[in-house]
Amino acid sequence: MIRGKCPICGKVFEVAKLDDLPSFPFCTDRCRLVDLGRWIDGAYAIPEAARPVQAEVPEAEEDEE
Ligand SMILES: [Zn+2]
Repeated sequence: MIRGKCPICGKVFEVAKLDDLPSFPFCTDRCRLVDLGRWIDGAYAIPEAARPVQAEVPEAEEDEE
């Protein structure tokens, strides 16, 4: 018997074997997707925050005659 606690909703589940719970370590696919969504949000948010704000570079001045 395998006991676990869903890291998303905190629900405690108990299964005979891991094959019985494809969404392990989450209680359901729904919680698994919630976690995946958070991870993706973080993956996008971190590089965005770390990237320095780049000022728009004006076009190179052309010699006017
Ligand atoms: Zn859950």
